[in-house]
Order: sequence, then structure tokens, then C-alpha cells
Amino acid sequence: MFRYCPHCGSSQVRVAGSQRFSCDDCTFVFFQNVATATGCIISAKTGVLFEVRGKEPGKDKLGFPGGFVNPGEGAIEGIRRECVEEIGWDPGENVRFMASFPNEYRYKGVLYHTCDLYFTVSAPELTLSDLTLDTKETREVRFIMPHEIALDDIAFDAAKKALRYFTLSMARR
Ligand SMILES: [Zn+2]
Repeated sequence: MFRYCPHCGSSQVRVAGSQRFSCDDCTFVFFQNVATATGCIISAKTGVLFEVRGKEPGKDKLGFPGGFVNPGEGAIEGIRRECVEEIGWDPGENVRFMASFPNEYRYKGVLYHTCDLYFTVSAPELTLSDLTLDTKETREVRFIMPHEIALDDIAFDAAKKALRYFTLSMARR
């Protein structure tokens, strides 16, 4: 995490587990807590909505709309905001909690531990023409039937688990 104390500059720093950082020379303590993130499986008649990621991590791989929850924000607010930002579409009141998976997100050399909350949205009539993409984040959007997906094409472990969970829960219906 840190090689020197950000408060006093001492090199007498201690890391307990992957979370607690403290300095022996002053009273500085820092917790790298797990961050909350969201993801959303939007299912239309033509398939599940996947984004082709436009940037690292996981550039060119498939992912679901989602991202980190902002300070002061609830998870449902967060996923609705991410959908509006990334695909220009608000799932509104149709967001349902599905399951939660731990994830690791490496960005510019720093490893972030997240707890990803996955939601589902049923939007049978949704098509590409309803969407406006943020092309910096999302190169394109594809509707793909879950059984046609190769899990290796998906960027994050939590997203693979979420898709598997979604497919199994659909099969049980
Ligand atoms: Zn210190």
C-alpha cells in the first residue's frame, strides 16, 4: 500500500492483513476498506446487454453496466446513475437485487477489493436505438443470449459469477 507514512514520512510502517496500515512513529492509521460496486444484468428479448469495454482494466472484453458507488449514494441510485452515464438509459424502478460477489479491480497498479452488488433489470423491448453510449467507457453494446457467451470473453470474475448465477436462476423458473 504505502512505503512511507503519508502523515510523518517515516518508513516504520506496518501493514496488517490487506486492510490496516499504521505508522510506528506517529499515530497515523489508514484502513483500505472494501469498496461497494454495482453491476446490472439487463435482459431484453434479443439477449442480455453487454458492454464492450473501451478502457482498462479489461479493455475490449465484455462487461455489464456498473461501477463504484459514490460517497453518499445508495446502491440502486448508483447503478441507475452508471446506466445513464454508460449507456444513456435509466432502468428506473425495474432494478432488482440479484446477488453479491467479491471482486478485485486493478487500476494503475493499485489493487482495490470490492463487494459487487449485482442487479437484474427486465427490459424486453429494449434495443440499441434506446441507448446513447459513452464511447470513452464503452466501445459498443451487444445483446447476447447468455448461453452463447464464452466466459473467457468477460472482463471480471464477479461478472462471470453473476452471469452464471443469472443463467441458473433463469433455468430454475
Ligand atoms: Zn507516521
